[in-house]
Amino acid sequence: MKITIIGTGYVGLVTGACLAEIGNDVFCVDVDARKIEILNSGGVPIHEPGLQELIARNRAAGRIQFSTDVEASVAHGDIQFIAVGTPPDEDGSADLSHVLDAAYSIGKHMTGFKVVVDKSTVPVGTAQRVGEVIREQLDARGVAANFSIVSNPEFLKEGAAVDDFMRPDRIVIGCDDDRHGAKAREMIKRLYAPFNRNHERMLYMDVRSAEFTKYAANAMLATRISFMNEMANLADRVGADIEAVRRGIGSDPRIGYDFLYAGCGYGGSCFPKDVQALIRTAAESGQHLHILESVERVNEQQKQVLVGKIVKRLGEDLTGRRFAVWGLAFKPNTDDMRAASSRVLVAALLARGASVVAHDPVAMGEARRVFAIDFADQPEVLERLSYVDEPRQAVAGADALVIVTEWKAFKSPDFSYLKTQLKTPLIFDGRNLYDPPTLAEQGIEYYGIGRPEIA
Ligand code: NAD
Repeated sequence: MKITIIGTGYVGLVTGACLAEIGNDVFCVDVDARKIEILNSGGVPIHEPGLQELIARNRAAGRIQFSTDVEASVAHGDIQFIAVGTPPDEDGSADLSHVLDAAYSIGKHMTGFKVVVDKSTVPVGTAQRVGEVIREQLDARGVAANFSIVSNPEFLKEGAAVDDFMRPDRIVIGCDDDRHGAKAREMIKRLYAPFNRNHERMLYMDVRSAEFTKYAANAMLATRISFMNEMANLADRVGADIEAVRRGIGSDPRIGYDFLYAGCGYGGSCFPKDVQALIRTAAESGQHLHILESVERVNEQQKQVLVGKIVKRLGEDLTGRRFAVWGLAFKPNTDDMRAASSRVLVAALLARGASVVAHDPVAMGEARRVFAIDFADQPEVLERLSYVDEPRQAVAGADALVIVTEWKAFKSPDFSYLKTQLKTPLIFDGRNLYDPPTLAEQGIEYYGIGRPEIA
């Protein structure tokens, strides 16, 4: 099938590459000429396991192309996927300007029937607005073409995006039930049939419910994390081990093990903004989402929990102290730094006079970019942040090691070596990677999140 993907970010690129892999003819368009240039010269502007190989293979086979040519992109696809960003506006609501720009382009250039699939995470009612923008453009041009808007929210996880797309738990399809909606549904059903062979994964529903489903899913996951973080903070006070508690409750099939890890807060491009956007949507319709307001508040506080432990142990003034920070990305296997906990932690350490030597397996380029923006008006503070290529280099001479992202490479370090390198054998672990008794045996002072302190 002929497919256009609008937006070559985490979702658009993965969608385009995976749809090309199963034999479709895919045209990816982006307004960011730099990204298109990188893609056309054989690179990939983001880090996502397996994506580079997938794109290279399909580009060589002539099944995927990249361009900034909007008119050509609209002409290409019978199905037009909108996969542009929906960042938070100042009031927390989703900024729909990119989505509506994409709709405008489609309406401005289309000449025949199109299925417009919204893959971006958008508030309930957005499909209707997308349809209105397209219709306005068609009317302005006096073109009588038809179209149907489908809501197909994306559930992939950064760091495992290709796998998630290729083996989805479910594919949510929101369609209108008119004639064009029925035609769109058949086309989408055919497009996704290869992902649906093993068992039925397609969930058909109305457009508004599909739009809502994505927010409700992320809100539920964020709730589990904030719930566990609150339990962990209590475990800290009462001397229980949240890891034991996690296993104790996760073994109940009604609860399950996933998304029960306590830590130094969730980040990324989805949970924080989607929780906020749902709170805004509710406020606009006159409802308070009490639970989600707390979820968000707990998460903001949780990003400060490591800082609190460091200050409690080493004092408020950290001038002259040096911290090794392992992990900058908001989670492993990605270079995404959006709303990452590391940004709060590093800023707090620098603000208290400390210097930070940071390492991340893939996010250092992105970290340099975002910290340069975060500290644009404090260049003298930014000078105290440096980066090293190896985790071991960070700890040499440091007053403490702080772990912010649970990369595999950090899970089993040589503790005796660490002890010889650290100025003080002190670890603050924001992801509960280590076993407190083992560290105690090694003579390392260890602070996790909701873990007992063993002298
Ligand atoms: P992103 O910021 O990585 O990429 C968006 C891309 O769209 C950018 O390259 C940007 O230049 C491009 N763009 C903006 N306006 C455009 C236009 N008018 N025409 C063409 N290109 C345009 O975003 P992302 O992380 O891929 O997220 C996209 C959407 O998918 C968001 O709504 C997000 O909430 C949702 N989502 C993201 C994830 C995730 O893990 N990143 C998962 C599920 C859903």
